[in-house]
Amino acid sequence: MKLVEYEGKELFAKYGIPLSKAFGVIKNREDISKIKIDSYPCVIKAQVLAGGRGKAGGVKIAKDKAEAEKIMEKMLGMKMVTHQTAGKEISVDEILICESANIEREIYLAVTMDRKAGKPSLIACAEGGVAIEELAHSNPEAIIKIPVDPETGLLDFQARELAYALKIEKEVFCSFTDTAKKLCKLFIEEDASLAEINPLIVTKDKKLIALDSKVITDDNASFRHKEWDNIPDRESSEIEKEAKEIGINYIALDGNIGCMVNGAGLAMATLDTIKLAGGDAANFLDVGGGANVDQITKAFKIILKDPKVKAVMINIFGGIMKCDNIASGVTEAAKNVNIKVPLIVRLEGTRVKEGKEILAKSGLKIHQADSAWEAAKLAVQLAGK
Ligand code: GDP
Ligand code: MN
Repeated sequence: MKLVEYEGKELFAKYGIPLSKAFGVIKNREDISKIKIDSYPCVIKAQVLAGGRGKAGGVKIAKDKAEAEKIMEKMLGMKMVTHQTAGKEISVDEILICESANIEREIYLAVTMDRKAGKPSLIACAEGGVAIEELAHSNPEAIIKIPVDPETGLLDFQARELAYALKIEKEVFCSFTDTAKKLCKLFIEEDASLAEINPLIVTKDKKLIALDSKVITDDNASFRHKEWDNIPDRESSEIEKEAKEIGINYIALDGNIGCMVNGAGLAMATLDTIKLAGGDAANFLDVGGGANVDQITKAFKIILKDPKVKAVMINIFGGIMKCDNIASGVTEAAKNVNIKVPLIVRLEGTRVKEGKEILAKSGLKIHQADSAWEAAKLAVQLAGK
């Protein structure tokens, strides 16, 4: 799960990473008049799940109360497109207000998982800020990577070596090594897949401050982080949230063929097969290994909520679940849900003959296919353009 800046900074505070003073988070118009800002200039920051806010008008500095209010009024509800939103507009529903820092120098510091090495990796660059991605392209050797042992965390000598390599000023040297170690500790203990500070700044009066945060937590660890239940899911669409609640893996896609598949691997293969047949899937949907009538019914409803769907392809492999059970489930569910688009079913596996018979005798208009390839071609043809 991706955290917004102020949530990431709450974690930074928990681990003692130095921050600039925060005045609060604004979520609606009333908050604007209520917030107490006791020093200017202040910085007003859009809390959205995308970087590049600085360049897109999502980070503004105000010199006094009047200017701050004007900026907050304008920013709240604003639609923003940054280089990280893939051309899509995102709406600014929350704003963070902090004391503005006097920046002398911007550093990049992050911890991420190095899958090849099988351990976390601390990544740093002497020149942080908004141009880090260009720098990574034009001058990749400027980026320093240090492997972190998850048992010991970042060791003192590693932190010092990094500080020397980045030419960290002596006034903030200890604060830097301390922050680097704390960021690694946070990454490990909070089960993050990314913990990034960009920029980590040195102020004109020689203080080290984490000016921004980007933290992504690993959903696989949610069983040991009950506190994550309180963090709002800002990424999923309404349909995706609904699917999650009933235990179905659903991801919306751009095509027009709705898919219902059991097993994530088969679901991936189904998307590829549809593509190969010249079409595009409207979703990835895995009903799981033990799909029952109830789940199949719910899955149908979810697929059909997407107005783009012009045909539904069911691709089920009966393993532990037998094909005849699945076929009964599909017919039962199809009777419950008003399906106005062509329905293509491919069954394979245990008791497939019986399953196909149930579908054929159901009285429903179901197109049966003998192979995934045949089903995909049929779905593409019936969905049209
Ligand atoms: P991002 O563009 O979404 O990564 O947002 P950041 O929080 O990193 O802000 C972008 C840039 O705005 C930073 O690299 C800084 O140069 C600048 N900035 C952010 N906060 C402050 C601040 O408190 N004071 C000043 N002077 N500049 C700031
Ligand atoms: Mn940033």
